[in-house]
Amino acid sequence: MALTYDKLFIGGQWVAPSTSAKIEVTSASTGEIIGSVPDCKNADIDAAVAAARKTFDDPTGWSSWEPKRRAAAMESLAKQLESRADEMAKRVSMQNGMPISIAKQLEGGFPVVVLRYFAKLTESFDFESERPHLLGGTTIVRKEPLGVVGAIAPWNYPQTLASFKHAAAMAAGCTIVLKPSPETVLDAYLFAEAVMESDIPAGVINIVPGGREAGAYLVSHPKVDKVAFTGSTAAGRLIAETCGKLLRPVTLELGGKSAAIILDDAKLDFAKMGQDFFAATLVNNGQTCYLGTRVLAPRSRYKEIVDAVAGFASSLPVGDSLDPTTLIGPMASRTHRERVEGYIAKGTAEGARLVVGGGRPSKMTHGWFVEPTVFADVDNQSTIAQQEIFGPVLSIIPYTDENDAIRIANESDFGLGGSVWTDDAARGRAVARRVRTGTIGINRYMPDPGAPFGGVKASGIGRELGPDAMNPYLAVKTIYA
Ligand code: NAD
Repeated sequence: MALTYDKLFIGGQWVAPSTSAKIEVTSASTGEIIGSVPDCKNADIDAAVAAARKTFDDPTGWSSWEPKRRAAAMESLAKQLESRADEMAKRVSMQNGMPISIAKQLEGGFPVVVLRYFAKLTESFDFESERPHLLGGTTIVRKEPLGVVGAIAPWNYPQTLASFKHAAAMAAGCTIVLKPSPETVLDAYLFAEAVMESDIPAGVINIVPGGREAGAYLVSHPKVDKVAFTGSTAAGRLIAETCGKLLRPVTLELGGKSAAIILDDAKLDFAKMGQDFFAATLVNNGQTCYLGTRVLAPRSRYKEIVDAVAGFASSLPVGDSLDPTTLIGPMASRTHRERVEGYIAKGTAEGARLVVGGGRPSKMTHGWFVEPTVFADVDNQSTIAQQEIFGPVLSIIPYTDENDAIRIANESDFGLGGSVWTDDAARGRAVARRVRTGTIGINRYMPDPGAPFGGVKASGIGRELGPDAMNPYLAVKTIYA
């Protein structure tokens, strides 16, 4: 049964959109249409920003509430989301192809954890402090909510990545206009229902489904005070340009092409560490920004590692994303699959050796599937090693020694994630410290809601999660009392 929505969630109510334009959503596993929502135009975005502005400017409203009161409202939203976790996971899985077992943990569970983390943080946060004025008297330093946040999310983890923004923004006392990606809008409606049933006041969260034009309009809207974006580096550059001209604060979480460095002492027992290696290199069908898709293998153990990684990748069950046994589902859209297949062709054309995969799985006759694919003998300067593929494609690159591995890991325009695989904890940390990246794991990769997440170089500007993630939503004011 298709999920059809014809209203927008603005100012705490369901309102009629300004046009009859629709976004049609397809199942990534079957290609069938599974729902539709209004496609927002400028007038709808104006209405959403006006609602967020009105709530923010209310002198006794949300932004003036005691942190404890905001935290309680956020907790009520966490509860509402918790009760919808299974349905949320299902909607995301159908739309973007994320295997349901993973969607339950991440899209169903993670946003609840993030909301609770920021609710707790706001209660203990130092919003105002006094110190002696160095020339006599007292100085007060206040951290005040910045205002209306334009939050733009991608399709790969639509709820989790939206929560990184709205939870921190709400904890700071801001109001939000959230623009989901057109590929994943049905989950945004379930989120809207949860907001409506919670104690979050009207106008704090407003949702405007739409495409690039809608996103660009929101970013440049005169009544928006801050932009928070997760998506491609190309879009991030355009958004940064607009925000630069407007002198509008912006945080950017962009693409990645991270390294999974296998050190020569690593015990590669996939029966034991397969799940962790999968999470660090292939989770969500490779449609994850931080994955270590450049696998760096020591020449001393090269053949063994190529065989092990290829054997592991080809053993992963491929199937309908709603099948609980699936570990590799389809690409999010037909166009995206074409893009991934284009990269696979380029890999072969540029001389990499295709070890496994490379085609479409024969048993999946519908949907946008690509086989888990492993290339060996990849040159780190080649296209498949330098550009983000965003599919289940690993490139194995040989290295001579530890310094060579670190050099290769750092020879990238990106710097978002990564991992080091070793049996020597101290060696793992020493190598992790030398990789130019925003985050990195040792024998695993699992983002921590309580610690900063983000990238360096073309992977973005700013950090989400952790205590510092409130700061981009706050303006510091000094009062010489
Ligand atoms: P995308 O950049 O095409 O779209 C992301 C969002 O931005 C969508 O909502 C889209 O409608 C909107 N958008 C696109 N162009 C815009 C513009 N000029 N102005 C305003 N909004 C615009 O990216 P995508 O294909 O949806 O997502 C995949 C990308 O996201 C990958 O590059 C991935 O690495 C990146 N990503 C990064 C992180 C991170 O935390 N660093 C996390 C997940 C995904």
